[in-house]
Amino acid sequence: MDLTLSQAEEAFRDELRSWLGENHPGHEPAGDEAAFEFRREWQRKLHGAGWAGVSWPKEYGGRGATLVEQAIFNEELVRARAPQVANVLGLAMGGPTVIAHGTEEQRKRYLPPILSAQEIWCQGFSEPDSGSDLASLKTRAVRHGDQWVVSGQKVWTTFAHHAKWCMLVARTDPDAPKHKGLTYFLMDMEQDAVHVRPLRQITGEAEFNELFIEEARIPDENIIGGEGNGWAVAITTLMHERSTLAFGLQVGVQIALGELIEHARQTRAQDGIVASDDPVVRQRLAQLLIESEILRLNAYRGLSAIMRGGVPGPEGSLGKWHWSEVNQSLTELAMDIAGPYAMSAEDRWTYRFLRARANSIEGGTTEILKNIVAERVLGLPRMR
Ligand SMILES: Cc1cc2nc3c(=O)[nH]c(=O)nc-3n(C[C@H](O)[C@H](O)[C@H](O)COP(=O)(O)OP(=O)(O)OC[C@H]3O[C@@H](n4cnc5c(N)ncnc54)[C@H](O)[C@@H]3O)c2cc1C
Repeated sequence: MDLTLSQAEEAFRDELRSWLGENHPGHEPAGDEAAFEFRREWQRKLHGAGWAGVSWPKEYGGRGATLVEQAIFNEELVRARAPQVANVLGLAMGGPTVIAHGTEEQRKRYLPPILSAQEIWCQGFSEPDSGSDLASLKTRAVRHGDQWVVSGQKVWTTFAHHAKWCMLVARTDPDAPKHKGLTYFLMDMEQDAVHVRPLRQITGEAEFNELFIEEARIPDENIIGGEGNGWAVAITTLMHERSTLAFGLQVGVQIALGELIEHARQTRAQDGIVASDDPVVRQRLAQLLIESEILRLNAYRGLSAIMRGGVPGPEGSLGKWHWSEVNQSLTELAMDIAGPYAMSAEDRWTYRFLRARANSIEGGTTEILKNIVAERVLGLPRMR
């Protein structure tokens, strides 16, 4: 792939850079509610200026930008240290899934409020006994006339406490083979039959939740991609989860590495040696630099595969796996450099270290991603 930007891409980047320079909203306030409202306001501002859903088709409110421009967009936002948008899952996964598998009515109904952050989305896939083996999920949907009655439990549901819509995969045919009896629904979270209970993480935050669903109602028209086709639709969502976000993540690693090098320059160990003069620290920093560059190049490689094939492929799994390893190594080195100060809960590196533990689990565990790379990228024999 040619890594130099075309004139049009440079113009796109420069326009975005100058817009970000003038419109950056500053630092996020503390507290879950306040931070979320801040992100919602930020997304509204992006949307108002035509910077939400940049690669979505223009007819659905996007900018009709190319995937390279979408990648530039993700990179520039991270580079400018702009806050996260509120509707991360709707923009990166829900919208692209509706565009790929939804009907024209569904696209018209659901896409605009995703872009404006008016309706927040969450992803109800994982269950207490079905995470990696997602197709074994037990949440049951039974048809009653033109509605479905849904009961079951979901877990680790990020942003469910803010969400209007849940991308819910449920079993509609218990007699069919496990991958074939599933259907993909959009469930309205604003009903009494849906109970959201927050789960506190090791960082102290409660980003995700348990979801108890007791005879929730979903109209037939909220099925995406047809009854019994839930597995294929869910795979589209997961491929977007692993690929679409990759560009921002690799830039995030490069920025964090720059900060870590600064951290090493400013920290003295108990024997008085500056951390950046320690040969072992230097080697680990150099290794991280090499790895972050590989991450960047592989992100471009994934992008060119999407441009050739139209949809994200299994290569996205490689980037997600590699990113989690690099980000975890980076935060581990920061802890080693900090020494006893690493125990301080207020330290931003301590927060990052604790949050990074989830990187090798969220969006598919590293073991599962290795299986996907082995079987679907390298063509090795299937595990089972
Ligand atoms: C921060 C965070 C946010 C999340 N947000 C969401 C969300 O919004 N929506 C959602 O649906 N889910 C979400 N998840 C859940 C996530 O997708 C699951 O945790 C993940 O898929 C693993 O499932 P599990 O926790 O049930 O672990 P399990 O599947 O029980 O796995 C346990 C261990 O066994 C290993 N293992 C399992 N099967 C195999 C195998 N075949 N070969 C080798 N090793 C194997 C795993 O790698 C893991 O180490 C989130 C998770 C985190 C940490």
